[in-house]
Amino acid sequence: MSILKVARMGHPVLRAKARPVEKAELRSAAFQKLVDDMLDTMDEYHGVGLAAPQVHEGLRLFVASIDQREDDDDKTPPPEPIAIINPEIIVVGTDVVEDWEGCLSIPDIRGRVPRAREIKVRALDRKGERIELHARNFPARVIQHETDHLDGVLFFDRMKSFESLTFLDEYARYWVKD
Ligand SMILES: [Zn+2]
Repeated sequence: MSILKVARMGHPVLRAKARPVEKAELRSAAFQKLVDDMLDTMDEYHGVGLAAPQVHEGLRLFVASIDQREDDDDKTPPPEPIAIINPEIIVVGTDVVEDWEGCLSIPDIRGRVPRAREIKVRALDRKGERIELHARNFPARVIQHETDHLDGVLFFDRMKSFESLTFLDEYARYWVKD
């Protein structure tokens, strides 16, 4: 296992459009190691998602924790993070919700970003099998954020206003309500 270096905002790799992963390439040891290293890197930095361009690889691939449990009292363990390859997002309905996002490439900053509440995503898993996920709320947000990375889009680009941009300390001090 290796912890990969995460590109920070300003690195051109974060603004480039990533290319689709070929089926043959997907089965290679090098690709499978990249997926394992991305999972380790996401875990190391306590991320919920990490896209290949963030580790300097221009491939349409991200790893994410897609936790669909909506009930806070749900005692089932969270699912293992998964790899999503060549994703295509289909927005379901017209609901747009604004909520907080952060990004491992924009450390210690949070901002409020509008996203579609509900989506379907068609993709390949790390074995090359076709998958279709249906996600709402936070998991749908994570998938949209990570898929944006594959097109060189960062969450700042999606913000309606920069008024909510905040450093993490100030976020904890002034913005978190419970
Ligand atoms: Zn990000």
